[in-house]
Amino acid sequence: MKLALLNEVLGRSPWWAPRIFGTQAPDTGNAEILAHYGTEEQKAAYLQPLLEGEIVSSYSMTEPQGGSDPGVFKLRAERDGDEWVINGTKFFSSNARYAKFLIVMAVTNPDVGPYNGISMFVVPADTPGLRIERNIAVYGEPDEEGSHGLVQYENVRVPAAAMLGGEGQGFQVAQTRLGGGRVHHAMRAVGICARALDMMCERALSRHTKGSLLADKESVQGYIADSWMELQQFRLFVLQTAWKIDKYNDYARVREDIAASKVIAQKLLHDVVGRSIQVHGALGASNELNLCRWWMMSWITGFSDGPSEVHKRTVARQVLKQYQPAPGLWPTEHLPTRRAEARRKLGVEAPASSVPE
Ligand SMILES: Cc1cc2nc3c(=O)[nH]c(=O)nc-3n(C[C@H](O)[C@H](O)[C@H](O)COP(=O)(O)OP(=O)(O)OC[C@H]3O[C@@H](n4cnc5c(N)ncnc54)[C@H](O)[C@@H]3O)c2cc1C
Repeated sequence: MKLALLNEVLGRSPWWAPRIFGTQAPDTGNAEILAHYGTEEQKAAYLQPLLEGEIVSSYSMTEPQGGSDPGVFKLRAERDGDEWVINGTKFFSSNARYAKFLIVMAVTNPDVGPYNGISMFVVPADTPGLRIERNIAVYGEPDEEGSHGLVQYENVRVPAAAMLGGEGQGFQVAQTRLGGGRVHHAMRAVGICARALDMMCERALSRHTKGSLLADKESVQGYIADSWMELQQFRLFVLQTAWKIDKYNDYARVREDIAASKVIAQKLLHDVVGRSIQVHGALGASNELNLCRWWMMSWITGFSDGPSEVHKRTVARQVLKQYQPAPGLWPTEHLPTRRAEARRKLGVEAPASSVPE
């Protein structure tokens, strides 16, 4: 709950605040992995300086042929004596160019499928054979500021102790970072949307056109009302999710809430920031305001850390677990069946009626 309230504030400045307060992706997720699975030496070498803000880290999971499906991953780690030898390509490894170390997801046994055949390694960035081919920028960033590395691993050797978690447990290790990470994104989205709404309201009260303020136009009032109502609902939902995480201390138990919070975050960023762009007109579309960069975040939220389509499936499956199929031909709420059952229980005859049962 505390983190939710704090992230709301930090979310209002999505680039700088998380960095200043040490809650930025991918470092928070990597810190969680190291805290759970790192040896004391790894914690001293990587976790402590990461928490102190002295170093930056990278998470190397996505590959050029796909990120949402671990079944398509090809980057291999093969055992050679006391070492693992890593070969392959990773895509969109954020901050790889600044990182002191990368946490790398590698196939260690291609015969048993991704849920048992992938392992996680911590790889120092200066390990021979690790090469950044290029740094990709997301839309809105200047090319030279791109920081999402296309990283080549060519015979990269790490000691056996570089494995985080057990062999074949990479997927479970990844879940450790994702459970928290997803809901943190949602918490920060509350802050971004609140700021976009603030901007929308200020603009509506400042811009005069066709004889009245934008704030007096019914359609603009609709944008403001919809945005405010959706934001209130979203904020309370995120706080409830945080409260449940505190209460159960088990991400798996609130997986539908976490999945839903991320899906709603995408929609809200899209809708609220989009309306703010609309109300600002040309200025909203320009690089003199942050709105378009925030709007881009809605698309990124929709596929990073699992696509919204998959999160919706998770929500539906979890919800459906609470239900049973109807016991017979008719739904349990079928009125004629219920009336007949009530009469049977009460021992009363059906009235002669023209209304069909
Ligand atoms: C700004 C940014 C930072 C990133 N940082 C990192 C990082 O630090 N480390 C890292 O490893 N990766 C990172 N990524 C990559 C990110 O993890 C991937 O983009 C994500 O996993 C999706 O993979 P993909 O892009 O290959 O899309 P794909 O897997 O090709 O999916 C594309 C689309 O297909 C649809 N889709 C996919 N699967 C399904 C399904 N099962 N059912 C229905 N529809 C589906 C969805 O619409 C989805 O958006 C980053 C990406 C961005 C944009």
